[in-house]
Amino acid sequence: MSNKIMKSDEEWKAELTPAQFAVCRQKGTERAFTGQYHESKEKGIYQCVCCGTDLFSSETKYNSGTGWPSFWEPLTADSVTTEEDNSYGMRRVEVLCSKCDAHLGHLFDDGPEPTGQRYCMNSVSLKLAKKPE
Ligand code: FE
Repeated sequence: MSNKIMKSDEEWKAELTPAQFAVCRQKGTERAFTGQYHESKEKGIYQCVCCGTDLFSSETKYNSGTGWPSFWEPLTADSVTTEEDNSYGMRRVEVLCSKCDAHLGHLFDDGPEPTGQRYCMNSVSLKLAKKPE
């Protein structure tokens, strides 16, 4: 995706809540079962809380039992980007917003069919744009 959004930490800090900043811009993780969306079954599109880019559809959301909102695939192939993450002595794959590089969560290969993937996201990184009834 072109036209990347680049902002300084100070700019992000001014726009985001402390919890959003800690997760999205400093790669934090919200505590399991504390977020807004892990149990949500509402229909709509989950957008990046930092830049509003469409990231995931409620159609691919499932209950992973982890306490974080989980999806088996992103909205489109270029909605998110992934990077190797070797922090905390673990080998994981980090998931980022392709437009503004917000940290969203991690990708695991224990998801359901049809992809077998689990995009394990932080609620605080997302904003649900509800589908009009
Ligand atoms: Fe973003």
